[in-house]
Amino acid sequence: MDKKDILSLSLVQLEEEILLIGEKKFRAKQIFNWLHQKKVTSFDDMQNIPKDLRTKLNDNFKIYHLEAERTLKSKIDGTVKYLYRLEDGNHVETVLMDYSYGTSICVSTQVGCKMGCKFCASTIAGFRRNLEPSEILLQIYESERNSGKKISSVVLMGIGEPLDNFDNVLKFLELISSPEGNGLSLRHVTISTCGIVPKIKELAELKLGLTLAISLHASDNKSRSETMPINNRYHIEELISACKGYVSKTGRRITFEYALIDGVNSSHEDAKRLANLIRGINCHVNLIPVNKVAERNYSTHMKTVQSFKDSLDKLGINATIRRTLGSDINASCGQLRRNAENI
Ligand code: SAH
Repeated sequence: MDKKDILSLSLVQLEEEILLIGEKKFRAKQIFNWLHQKKVTSFDDMQNIPKDLRTKLNDNFKIYHLEAERTLKSKIDGTVKYLYRLEDGNHVETVLMDYSYGTSICVSTQVGCKMGCKFCASTIAGFRRNLEPSEILLQIYESERNSGKKISSVVLMGIGEPLDNFDNVLKFLELISSPEGNGLSLRHVTISTCGIVPKIKELAELKLGLTLAISLHASDNKSRSETMPINNRYHIEELISACKGYVSKTGRRITFEYALIDGVNSSHEDAKRLANLIRGINCHVNLIPVNKVAERNYSTHMKTVQSFKDSLDKLGINATIRRTLGSDINASCGQLRRNAENI
């Protein structure tokens, strides 16, 4: 029998499992606490668990582990990028960034991606599989162990499309925020999506208090469809309407991410169209100079970014320019994994 992935179990599920192996329910809370608060990596470290129960745990469950196969540290700003090897030999990337308010981590949610955005390195070699809840969680736990830092905010902006792995992402959110476990408030979590409209609506109903970021990157259907195939499925009007629904259901401000590409989406006309599209929504625009990807010919001058921001300012749209971190370690996602796996 395959051993169960214990780090993917919620407390309620763990209680059920513990009853099934003939133990008392309260043990589940103790074990959950060892796993998610003290973050032990072996059942044998669970000191208040009797030896015979530890043996049963070893027989029935496994505590997954991710191996940091490569660690790159930026000499400019201390940003650290990990290439983690999963138990089955696949790889994902995780980035740790220091801000004035604490340490933030960018985690992956899938191995590869099926969304096909033209500017993105994570999707070039296609999709392999979804990450388990434990594999998303472990990017945080292992990075805390490896860096000695406590992580205070999490962004789901690494490899993969979080809303295409919806159930496992929800389970991850439950685990990371559990008061009996790691206890991170979901106010400190951001989910970034390319725009899977039905899932945005489902997420809105859950009112989780997290921040939703939309990878918009264009202001009309023609240019958005050229770079983001998802736009053929859910047109920009549908996406914006789902965003309005999200804001009104949750009361949370939404973030629009806009990666500027010279000659593609960065003219004054683009800024005007963008302003008209999102005016009146409780939102904030995050401008990103596009990261170079070897296979693509995209680039941006900082001058373009600044003048796009100036245009938006004049049009009354709140925008900031994302700080570029880890530029010397190629912190944009997907490239390390591709080198490691030769894909
Ligand atoms: N699939 C999700 C999350 C992963 S991508 C999403 O689409 O939002 C995280 C962010 O990085 C997205 O906004 C994505 O559009 C952006 N991104 C991808 N490649 C980029 C590049 N080369 N330069 C700048 N931003 C990029």
